[in-house]
Amino acid sequence: MIYTIEKIVQRLRPLQSIVRFDDTIEHILTDSRSLSHTKHTLFFALLGESGDGHLYIEQLYHHGVRNFVIINHIEELAEKCPEANFIAVSDTLRALQRLAIEWRNAFQIPVVGITGSNGKTVVKEFLYQLLCDSYNIVRSPKSYNSQLGVPLSVLQMRESHTLALFEAGISKPGEMERLFPIIHPTIGIFTNIGSAHQENFNTLAQKIDEKLQLFADCERIIYNMDDKDITDGLRRAGLLGQSRGWSVENKEATLFVKKIETKEKVTEITIAPLGTDLVIQIPFVDQASVDDVLHCIVAMMVLKPNFVEYPEIFLRLEPVEMRLEVKKGNNNNIIINDVCSNDINSLAIALDFQQRRAKEMGLKRVVVLSEIQQSGLSARQLYHNVADMMQPLAIDHLFVVGKEMTRLQDYLPDHKISYFAHTDDLLAHAALEDLSDSCILVKGARSFQFERIIDRLSYKVHQTTLQVNLEAIVQNLNYYRSLLPKGTQCIGMVKANGYGVGSYEVAQSLDEAHIDALAVAVADEGKELRKAGILSPILVMNPEESAFDTLINYTLEPVIFSRTLLERLCAKISKQGFSRIAIHLEIDTGMHRLGFSPEELIELVDFFKGNNLVYVKSLFTHLAAADDPEQDAFTLRQIECFTEANQRFAELMGYTPLRHILNTAGTERFPEQAADMVRLGIGLYGISSSGDTHLAPALRLRTTLLQKKNILPGDTIGYGRKGLLPEGGTIGIIPIGYADGYDRRFSQGRGWVSLRGKRCPIIGNICMDTCMIDLTHCPEAEEGDEVILFGDALTDIGELARSIDTISYELIADLSPRIQRVYFRA
Ligand SMILES: *Cc1c(COP(=O)(O)O)cnc(C)c1O
Repeated sequence: MIYTIEKIVQRLRPLQSIVRFDDTIEHILTDSRSLSHTKHTLFFALLGESGDGHLYIEQLYHHGVRNFVIINHIEELAEKCPEANFIAVSDTLRALQRLAIEWRNAFQIPVVGITGSNGKTVVKEFLYQLLCDSYNIVRSPKSYNSQLGVPLSVLQMRESHTLALFEAGISKPGEMERLFPIIHPTIGIFTNIGSAHQENFNTLAQKIDEKLQLFADCERIIYNMDDKDITDGLRRAGLLGQSRGWSVENKEATLFVKKIETKEKVTEITIAPLGTDLVIQIPFVDQASVDDVLHCIVAMMVLKPNFVEYPEIFLRLEPVEMRLEVKKGNNNNIIINDVCSNDINSLAIALDFQQRRAKEMGLKRVVVLSEIQQSGLSARQLYHNVADMMQPLAIDHLFVVGKEMTRLQDYLPDHKISYFAHTDDLLAHAALEDLSDSCILVKGARSFQFERIIDRLSYKVHQTTLQVNLEAIVQNLNYYRSLLPKGTQCIGMVKANGYGVGSYEVAQSLDEAHIDALAVAVADEGKELRKAGILSPILVMNPEESAFDTLINYTLEPVIFSRTLLERLCAKISKQGFSRIAIHLEIDTGMHRLGFSPEELIELVDFFKGNNLVYVKSLFTHLAAADDPEQDAFTLRQIECFTEANQRFAELMGYTPLRHILNTAGTERFPEQAADMVRLGIGLYGISSSGDTHLAPALRLRTTLLQKKNILPGDTIGYGRKGLLPEGGTIGIIPIGYADGYDRRFSQGRGWVSLRGKRCPIIGNICMDTCMIDLTHCPEAEEGDEVILFGDALTDIGELARSIDTISYELIADLSPRIQRVYFRA
């Protein structure tokens, strides 16, 4: 959408507005976590299940957002955010919808409105694939089809578009009335009608009538003519005249389907749109996909009649990801992933799909199923229906989760069924591990978190993982907080992809634990965090000139360490018309890395005094040897030097920026010197630089024992024949090597791993993708055993690092991206 604030005020006729400057609005924001643009953004503070948008206004303001549509507290907010525009309305969602209606009405292009119980997104995505060569299409992102999703989709329309495809979903009466004018479709598609959300409607007919309101002004309505309920609905609504149906029974239909034939991997649909037979092949064999494509064919007859000349485009249709993802599992299993919803219709679709897959591949059929929620039926009736559906199917083993599921027992006495009250109980059970040669359908309502089951069953290409305990990271943050004087702020150092651990996940956990700021190395890392929804202040330790735009666009706060950098940044800010951008000044007090000398700092005062482009938010210095007691005199001199410089600066400037000095080791050893903030890095991961034993270990690098081998006396092991067991013995091979970042200096016994609670040395030279361990003193080891490379009591990261003359930081930061990071909270 592109409107000026003035125009928006006119349109919304607000209760009250405070407009301090005119702005052109290009971006709409309703979820503060998705903040990506700050300029020209209008935030709608929504009240909903997910919270109160008003709570984020100050934070967004702080990040540069200047336009807000709100419900209450306008005076108070206007005072707190002195440069922002506020528009107060009685209902922010309605206001957004009203704006979308206005915007929609400015376009004359064909707009396809898609509704129905299932398949809306698939039909939309198929149509998109089929028509994207002929039209410039705007469409709902993912399945944005709600009271909020629809206006957001419509506001994406631009002058260059020639066709729009929007979904509309409703769950109770009254909702379609509101969506209708926003989409105002010229062509309607009614995919099908099922039991979803039936609990909110008295009858099926009522639900159909409600959905049909979307099509009141359509020139064409596309539907399945063989569905009597829908046909009756269209008749009741007086819409049969403009309806165009497909049918396998009725020769009078707009699209009469002569034959549907399922082959091994494709379905052939024979139609005769121009009198002569046309065979359309589609790369799907399930009934739902066939129906979806038939709707698309009728739509093509309206929107691209010459499609009959290229029937092959249908064979190129790609499955729509969100539904029924098929994955490779362990033990020759195939997993069908459908963990986002569970209702009776989609269950039928999923079972149909599974039965075919299993048959094609000669696999056993296993179903993992959660309770079905919100069906509108009594539990008794519901599970009777579910059992009816399953009764005729060949299901070798049924795992069910949820208390209501015990009801199935009575109806399916001959099926092998295992019951679990909670998802955790199933995960704790060995049965999942024992499955093999099966086609496993995992279908559950979102609240059952069946993605955890998928994760357990999935085939892991690389068995070496870095396990990251996010809870431990938060615990460690809180431990440092407890050491520090009250009110001391903490900056989480998540530079270099969070020390190699994964900056987003770590940053997210720290953000949730109310960390005061985060710091990254380069601007692009900060950008990624912003895009992922992190709103905390983010310092960029090493801002390059080429990244100034990124800094400004994503409200990142640069660390400035030289006059040249400062002047160039100011030139950029001035050119872009910004002011008072937060910066941090690094003072070199003896580290002799980056930073201004204390004298240079004082010389900057005049520069800052006549300058409104930046403001100095903090001053800091970095300690060179905070971990080493022998260097304490030097460390204290550094601190003193910083304190002096910072006091003089503050006197001359007339205000005191925030001050910070300590890294992890400094915080552990000199918490009383914390000043206003500390910068925590390695310690958050549970690795102490000073021998502090209060930390919770957060990292564990693990792999599995691939193979065991017996070695005869005199045999050698590995490249260069450097591995020797003069008396013979047993070795194991593990899938990690120097290409994974496992340091080659660990070769020949300098490094070790832990296996079944025993310390087993590395033997021979480490190879690129594998290495060998000595199992002579661990004869009980078995192939498949877990092997810990670091992170348990026997494999302390610090001790391992010392054995090869390096530091823990290097061991973790070096781990290559192909080592899968697995995050958990425990
Ligand atoms: C990396 C870094 C830190 C954090 O150091 P740790 O020893 O990991 O706590 C602090 N300050 C600066 C300037 C840094 O570059």
